[in-house]
Amino acid sequence: MMASRRGTVYACPDDVRRCRRERPAEPVRMCVGCRTKTAASGLLRVVAVDGTLVPDPRRRYPGRGAWVHPDVECLRLAERRRAFPRALRCAGALDTVAVHAFLT
Ligand SMILES: [Zn+2]
Repeated sequence: MMASRRGTVYACPDDVRRCRRERPAEPVRMCVGCRTKTAASGLLRVVAVDGTLVPDPRRRYPGRGAWVHPDVECLRLAERRRAFPRALRCAGALDTVAVHAFLT
């Protein structure tokens, strides 16, 4: 989290930029676990790096990302449904240990 001088708290610098413009609708993403559509700011972005699923809370990693609620239940659901390889278009299983560690 970071705070602007006016005291408003934004989730990330991207949100600050967004608010200075004419406040377009917030992007909505689908959680790959429970498949609920949620504002992107309420979801955790994850990316695949060398067969490992990596949490990307600052959304800095390039390439395809998948979105999941920052909740172990949604992570488990997504694993069970093999949603990550599908969403990230990579073959084979992904090691989700890093994301589990991030959420717990
Ligand atoms: Zn979810």
